[in-house]
This record gives sequence, structure tokens and C-alpha cells, in this order.
Amino acid sequence: MSENKKKFETEAIRTQLERTQFLEHTSPLYLTSSFVFEDAEDMRASFTEEKDRNIYSRFTNPNTTEFVEKICKMEGAESGYAFATGMAAVFSTFAALLSSGDHVVSARSVFGSTHTLFTKYLPKWNIETSYFNINEPETIESFIKPETKILYAESPTNPGIDIIDLELLGNIAKKHNLILVIDNCFATPYLQQPIKYGAHLVIHSATKLIDGQGRVLGGVTVGNADLIREIYLFARNTGPALSPFNAWTLSKSLETLAVRVDKHCENALKVAEFLENHPKVNWVKYPFLKSHPQYEVAKKQMKLGGNIVAFEVKGGIEEGREFINAIKMCSLSANLGDTRTIVTHPASTTHSSLVEADRLVVNITDGLVRVSVGLEHVDDIIGDLEQALG
Ligand SMILES: *Cc1c(COP(=O)(O)O)cnc(C)c1O
Repeated sequence: MSENKKKFETEAIRTQLERTQFLEHTSPLYLTSSFVFEDAEDMRASFTEEKDRNIYSRFTNPNTTEFVEKICKMEGAESGYAFATGMAAVFSTFAALLSSGDHVVSARSVFGSTHTLFTKYLPKWNIETSYFNINEPETIESFIKPETKILYAESPTNPGIDIIDLELLGNIAKKHNLILVIDNCFATPYLQQPIKYGAHLVIHSATKLIDGQGRVLGGVTVGNADLIREIYLFARNTGPALSPFNAWTLSKSLETLAVRVDKHCENALKVAEFLENHPKVNWVKYPFLKSHPQYEVAKKQMKLGGNIVAFEVKGGIEEGREFINAIKMCSLSANLGDTRTIVTHPASTTHSSLVEADRLVVNITDGLVRVSVGLEHVDDIIGDLEQALG
């Protein structure tokens, strides 16, 4: 891999495995479960890690190494490990670093499965989580106990598009000697690098904007080398590794991350501005709209506003459903960060099992619609939303 630090776009393209004797231009796909040893001594030295080399693809594989190396450069991280999914990255990070009796302080508005991990699975191992309201950061310190080990948040959040000041979280983590873990999925390393503000670990679901084309699942955790070592040993023994094929696909995707995300954000801002002026819309939430309550924080820590726009259709749950049913071109899908624009109505779909009061705690109102703005021509995206609102 190359040594001199270059610009983001260049690293995304030029960070590459060493060429083989075939002198291929782009990295080949290493679909192999294991690697061979020269002799008994080579095998011994490899297993004791005196030699840094590939042994078995559950541990490392050239394609996953290339993918992780790129994310590390993009996030300014020392080291990392790639997982089969974003949730495998989230679970393994907690499982590797926490012990029975430890405590987590997290923002309440986290990804649904992460919430399930905190409320259903970690308690089985006597690990409790306290939630703070993302819009009341002044309360965070009141949740910290002597047993607290990890401080956790996402920014922007899903689906509320709330923003939290990463520098503030970094300062709290430092003061209380906590491990700050940020799920940076919605921003991507192109828009926001939490390590700059004091995060120790950064997690991505690579399934979203990193793949960007709705093809493969993947996840990654990068950050402090000592913490990653613990996570690596956990993963090496428990098996959530990313497949070489998916790693190869995701590494190719990273080559175009900057141009894709630039365009996603340009389209999203136009969609947000259109919605803000529409009579059937109560409010719009987009980090780079001046009306966003944390606009200043978003401007400080994000390069652009991201590709997710949240808004409220006037009326309630019925009007939200009607809007979704009137959509023609955009997709109704559970994914986000795809080239195709995706529209969801959380109150009648993903969050319909919660009662209204519980939805409101995480800012999901009945009319809330989430748009993952894609790369179609923005006139066609706006055209579809406009006819559906009519
Ligand atoms: C999708 C998502 C995840 C989970 O990722 P998978 O790849 O679906 O397992 C975690 N966090 C956030 C913020 C997500 O959007």
C-alpha cells in the first residue's frame, strides 16, 4: 500500500494491494478461504503473529485488508476490522469491549437493531444502557456512573435527522475516561470524521452509502489500535468476517464515494428546499437547511448535509400512508443510501409496532416521511414527490 498521505479522493482510488505477477491494473478478487505456508516454521511463526500475513479469511483476507485500509485513511484511524454487516460491527464492538457489570450511555435515537441490542441482548450479560435525549446534550453527564465504559451516538440520526455536537461528546468522553463510539453511517467518512473530535472508534454500515448501489451488505469498525486489537481477536474467534467478494465490491465503491456523495447532497438540498416551500408540508429537517435546530453544529462538523431528508406531511398517519401510496418512481424499500431514491413512512411501517408516545420520544411523528435522496435527475425526484403530495 502507498505510504505518502494524499487527498481523500486520491487515497480512495490509489490505496491498493500490491500487484501480482500478472500486473493487473485494479485489485483482483481473492476468493480463497485459506493461505499456504512455506514449512512448519512459517506456520508456527504465522500463528504466533511473529509474521504479519494472511492465514485464513475469517482472520484477514487481502480484499478485506484493502477495504479496511481505505476506511482507516478516510477516517484518520489507526486500524480496523471489516464485518459481514453493519450490525455485526456494532455487536462485535460492544461484545469485545464490555464485561458483565459494565454500563453504556447512548443517545436514545439509534438504529433499530442497535436499540434491540441494548434493551434485549446486552442485559443478558448484565450490561445495562442509559439513554439520553439527543436534543438535551446537557443531561449526558448525569447518566454517567463509575461502571460506564462506552458513550455511544449516531449523527445525523435515523429517521429524525437530529445532529449532536461530536466535539462535546469527545470532551465528555475524555473527562470521564469513556470510550466514545460513533456510528458514522449517515455521514460517511467523506462528510464527517468523528476521530478528529475525540471518538475512539467509528462504525459504519457499509451497506448504505459506502456500497451506494444497493448491492452488498458490509460493516466496519475503525479507530484506536489497542481497542481494534480486542475487537479483532473477538471477531477472529467468533466469525462475523466480511466476505472477500463483498470487500472487493465495497473497495471499488469507495473509489467513487466522494463524487457520489457530493451529488447525493446537492440533490438532497434541492429536495429539502422544495419541500420547505410546499403548502402540504409542516416542516422539513435537513442538516444544511438554516431552519435545522443544529444547523451551526452541522456546518461545523459536516462537509455537506448528507442524503437523508425528513419531513412531515400535513395531517397524520393516513396522510402519510396516502403520500407513500401515491409515489410512482421512488422506491419503497428498507435500504438507504442507494442510487435510487427511497421513501419511507416510519409510523406506518418500520416503527408501527411502537405506540405513538414511544415514537414521539425519538421524534417520529405520524406524518414523518424519510427520503433517501438518490442520484436520479433531481427534477424527476422532485416531480415524483410533488405529484404524490398533490
Ligand atoms: C443500516 C444501519 C445499521 C446496520 O447496518 P446493516 O449493514 O444493515 O447491518 C447500523 N447503523 C445505522 C445508522 C444504519 O443505518
